[in-house]
Amino acid sequence: MEQPLQKKKPIIIAGPCSAETREQVHATAHELSRSAHITAFRSGVWKPRSRPGSFEGIGVDALEWLKEVKTLYKLPLAVEVATPEHVEQALKIGVDYLWIGARTTSNPFSVQELATALAGCTCTVMIKNPVNPDIELWIGAIERFLKTGNSPVMAIHRGFYPYEETLFRNIPKWELPIELKTRMPDIPLICDPSHIAGNRELVPEVAQYALDLNFDGLMIESHIDPDSALSDARQQLTPQRLIEMLDTLHFRSSEAEEFSMGELDNFRNQIDSIDAQIIELLAQRMDVTRKIGEYKAKHNIAAFQLNRWKKIIRSRMETGSLLGLSKSFVKKMLQSVHKESIRVQSELMKQHEKK
Ligand code: PEP
Ligand code: MN
Repeated sequence: MEQPLQKKKPIIIAGPCSAETREQVHATAHELSRSAHITAFRSGVWKPRSRPGSFEGIGVDALEWLKEVKTLYKLPLAVEVATPEHVEQALKIGVDYLWIGARTTSNPFSVQELATALAGCTCTVMIKNPVNPDIELWIGAIERFLKTGNSPVMAIHRGFYPYEETLFRNIPKWELPIELKTRMPDIPLICDPSHIAGNRELVPEVAQYALDLNFDGLMIESHIDPDSALSDARQQLTPQRLIEMLDTLHFRSSEAEEFSMGELDNFRNQIDSIDAQIIELLAQRMDVTRKIGEYKAKHNIAAFQLNRWKKIIRSRMETGSLLGLSKSFVKKMLQSVHKESIRVQSELMKQHEKK
């Protein structure tokens, strides 16, 4: 069942993380082409992997398979490029969308080289956010393309490297794309829920959240046999599941957008995202508190240590004050956190004594 997508047609880019074989590319594209929602077929051909030895993509040979897909299924193509040679090869087969990956956006030299290589081209360029949550770096990369070329430019939000283990593979930090939209309202912004979620169960939830924040579309990874994918296996959806998801997602209408996505909503959405991160950090802090509690119980050390506590209060109040927070607020907040930590540690110690 295909649900009409209401007035504002979102940009939906779908396809495998990587092109692996001719059969896999064809089968995935064939299934996806059944949906009227798909704007373009994505596929990684050169894969930027964190560690050497992982599957690094098929390279130019895979471009031939993509060219066939475009002819057979009338699907525009989207490919990731990281060097001017990639751009040249991708343009040769008539790619319609080029995207700059998170690792490449992080390097202004590479971004400038790509912007220069694309100067005469009119295909759409999509710039993923850099790996680290640096909004200026993201905006800077977008500006390099706007300055140098004539290509329409879009931004892709794919989350940020989390440093600590979190629910998501990459933390969404929604306050950043919202700020990007506020500062560059004319740049279409799409969300990549696959790389944010990191597992297929969470993809629909992240996708819906992005639509609720009025993103202009989605880039979603889809593989004909996700479990056997050579990259990002856990986060890819079968084309069938992806189409079902598109049918159940709620797409906002443009009237609703004018009505409710004002400045106040933007700020509230930023606050929601920041609060979620504060709570996640508090939970991480409490995990460490528990480990300290175990240690104290084992070595018979009291839960409350006056000198350590005094140091904590002093240093946090100084940091807070440098950041414009009142000392009394920081103190009250820490007292509350500390009280809970002591309670948790005392509980642990009691349990330890019972053993
Ligand atoms: C990808 O889209 O498959 C990819 C490598 O993404 P990112 O640059 O966001 O990690
Ligand atoms: Mn991927």
